[in-house]
Amino acid sequence: MVTTVQSSNTVAFPTPKSPGNRKRTEAIRVEQHAELRLQLSNILQTTLELPLVLQLFFDEVQRTLSIDSLTYRNSKLTSNIELGIGARHNCHYKLVTNKDSLGEVAFSRGKRFSEKELQLLEMLIGCLICPIRNSLMYREAVQSALRDPLTGSGNRMALENTLEREVALAKRHNQALSVLVVDIDKFKTINDNYGHTAGDYVLKDVAHILTLCSRETDAAYRAYRFGGEEFVLILNNTEANGSAVVAERIRQYIENMTTTFEENSLNVTVSVGVATLEDEDDMATLFSRADKALYQAKREGRNRVVNA
Ligand code: GH3
Ligand code: MG
Ligand code: MG
Repeated sequence: MVTTVQSSNTVAFPTPKSPGNRKRTEAIRVEQHAELRLQLSNILQTTLELPLVLQLFFDEVQRTLSIDSLTYRNSKLTSNIELGIGARHNCHYKLVTNKDSLGEVAFSRGKRFSEKELQLLEMLIGCLICPIRNSLMYREAVQSALRDPLTGSGNRMALENTLEREVALAKRHNQALSVLVVDIDKFKTINDNYGHTAGDYVLKDVAHILTLCSRETDAAYRAYRFGGEEFVLILNNTEANGSAVVAERIRQYIENMTTTFEENSLNVTVSVGVATLEDEDDMATLFSRADKALYQAKREGRNRVVNA
């Protein structure tokens, strides 16, 4: 059940006039805090998506305390999650359980935080620990279901999800989209001559090069392991010319790469098929054109790029 915290639940800090008053006020305060924590916990339980957990927390805390921004940092995330607009005065907390470090949360606002406000904030942060831990575990589970365990690249399921989404987005916004299918040439001979483990090292190195090449531009390129020794790169906002340049750079990098395994120096080359989205394409035809281009590259002698 989702319950919203009403503004009447705002925790006030009355200055008691007599010891009797103080006791009663303290009892009310404890009750209000318990209620607030219960409501906050209920709200935070409604999702496992980390950004949403933090947004809900930020919204609810703002009902109780004046806060301009919340920043969540965790070395496991590629970027910080920032909500609101940062201001001059900051406070930050490391989130730890006896087992894990769950990152750090920071708040800011224009006015200094009073001691009592900090105490209240700490109490509310207590409600954030379990939801953040659950969200991080959920995120990890989703990611590992979409990751190839050998190379760390996205797996086939991740590729299908992303490609479908990217094709729809590119069509809606009338943007370019290209796909590269990269296949290691004569890879079987590596396994046959040096063993399967040696082959695994080569696969990891090739995946690493693809990831490096993917990061060399601002566009959000992503590498996926499609099958045994076959990888796919999705290039957003990239026309045919740009994708041919990326493909050729990948080909050259891999040609010059050496994998060292048990004192053996292993060299491989790749063939690459490139296709760029056309009006009549859907995800299947785009991929199939890139795949056909790859087979043409193989037929024409391998270690080359062919554009569909
Ligand atoms: P081509 O140039 O025509 O692509 O030749 P190829 O030898 O690369 O292609 P082929 O399809 O004949 O062989 C692919 C090999 O990839 C066979 C398979 O044992 C190997 N392979 C697939 N997955 C893995 C893996 O995870 N690790 C290792 N070491 N080898 C793998
Ligand atoms: Mg091959
Ligand atoms: Mg193959």
